[in-house]
Amino acid sequence: MDQISKPNSPSLENFWMPFTANRQFKAAPRLLASAEGMYYTDIDGNKVLDGTAGLWCVNVGHGRERIAQAVERQLRTLDFAPTFQMGHPIAFEFAEKLAAIAPGGPAAKLDRVFFTGSGSESVDTALKIAIAYQRAIGQGTRSRIIGREKGYHGVGFGGISVGGLVNNRRVFPQIPADHMRHTLNIERNAFSKGLPQHGIELAEDLERLVALHGAETIAAVIVEPMSGSAGVIMPPKGYLERLRAIADKHGILLIFDEVITGFGRLGTPFATDYFGVVPDLVTTAKGITNGAIPMGAVFASRKVYDGLMTGPENQIELFHGYTYSGHPVACAAGIATLEIYQEDGLLTRGAELAETWQDALHSLKGLPNVIDIRNLGIVGAIELAPRDGAPGARAYDIFVDCFQKGLLIRVTGDVIALSPPLIIEKDEIGKIVSILGDALKRAL
Ligand code: PMP
Repeated sequence: MDQISKPNSPSLENFWMPFTANRQFKAAPRLLASAEGMYYTDIDGNKVLDGTAGLWCVNVGHGRERIAQAVERQLRTLDFAPTFQMGHPIAFEFAEKLAAIAPGGPAAKLDRVFFTGSGSESVDTALKIAIAYQRAIGQGTRSRIIGREKGYHGVGFGGISVGGLVNNRRVFPQIPADHMRHTLNIERNAFSKGLPQHGIELAEDLERLVALHGAETIAAVIVEPMSGSAGVIMPPKGYLERLRAIADKHGILLIFDEVITGFGRLGTPFATDYFGVVPDLVTTAKGITNGAIPMGAVFASRKVYDGLMTGPENQIELFHGYTYSGHPVACAAGIATLEIYQEDGLLTRGAELAETWQDALHSLKGLPNVIDIRNLGIVGAIELAPRDGAPGARAYDIFVDCFQKGLLIRVTGDVIALSPPLIIEKDEIGKIVSILGDALKRAL
């Protein structure tokens, strides 16, 4: 099909859609036309409750006037200016404002900010900073990165190399990386609320890889403190603390990929704050501008930054950067978003709602095919038993059913992932659970 059945609607032929079965989608498209607050409106005028904050990014809700005005104003003032050997005030201003809420708490703030254009760019940037830092401090043999079996770190060559999702990496070449085991035993932890009790021993896999490769070859270890795309897997109690301890023992940097957990998702500004475990580098994107303008940022510790600020002062310290690093319009969107986070208390609202959210999700226990329910902050996962011979098919059918009934959810494999905007109210939490519950009952 090359035309959806609406007057003046575009052909669907030309846009090669990302992470989508293009032919399946184009045969039965779902098109969103506008959005406000907690809701999208599709091209037929149906309202769809946003259970996923877009793609984990629209944390302060859709259509915020303050962001729109800031973007428009900035476009009319300074649409673009380079940040290579040149600067503009708003990039410095945004970095300074971000430093005030930077992950790590007052004592160990990661308040040196490198701007990027996306989560994938933030990951590649953090990996390069880690390797460059090791070299700068005389540890030039450290170029290997350790990730996790089911990690997702975006789609750059660095990100797919350290990431462990098989479909994302199997046809592409990689940089040297190795992977820690990450598969939590679901039966042992089934229906645990918050952090699972069992699984801290998975952190010992880092010791195994250090023994295998030699600490002197390893620059950094990167993990999502709470992993999203692998199917929303919460870290077992004590796991991240253990990783930090092992990394420290061997001179390995620890990177937290907070592209989805950054900016309030767990009820704290960053997952780093939630867990009280401070990494050396934190990658972010998405919620930094509420998804309104593409942008990402890497937060680095002063140790890492200062380690690279050596050598002659007239020489570039890090041969890395993007045309759009610190883009003025993205910075304007980011500052407006940060003001909303702060004025409306949204960076910690998840903590207030967490119990209601947890109770609502776990009320789905006992429905057909539900084999696990997981929650943390304002994140939820409902894991389904796969349909015989068709992994993912049951969850996909539920996704389509929910959309038709006015709820946007996200599925990865047989896991339904929920991450609504942080402005969500209790009745909307009830609505999510009610629509999803009905779909679960109907599903074959
Ligand atoms: N890291 C993590 C943990 C992510 O969840 C994502 C995207 N969902 C990325 C990196 C990549 O971000 P982007 O799609 O903006 O490149």
